Amino acid sequence: MHEMSVARSLIKSLEDIKEREGFLRITEIKVKVGILTGVEPSLLEKAFYYIKRGTSFEDTNITIEVEGMRITCVNCGYEGAVKVYEYSCPLCGASDIYFEGGDSLIIESVKGV
Ligand SMILES: [Zn+2]
Repeated sequence: MHEMSVARSLIKSLEDIKEREGFLRITEIKVKVGILTGVEPSLLEKAFYYIKRGTSFEDTNITIEVEGMRITCVNCGYEGAVKVYEYSCPLCGASDIYFEGGDSLIIESVKGV
């Protein structure tokens, strides 16, 4: 399960941030997940709650923001943002399209005390 390893690396990053910033505990982590990463936000949330048990991040809440992507169609020139993964242009159906964004898997912010 991909989400488990992502959750594990989030905990690892939190350990680094906690030490670097001198936090006693981290109350909140905000993560941005692009739709192209294949990470399912609800599964990542579950995985995070599972992995954090027994660590010093047991009280840390996770918020996951889904990042959509922009597509540009070579055929008809359509440009737009999509929230689901599209293989073809929603306007003309051509598969000759460029993607932009949607590939983030980053910690956006962390709140600690
Ligand atoms: Zn098109």
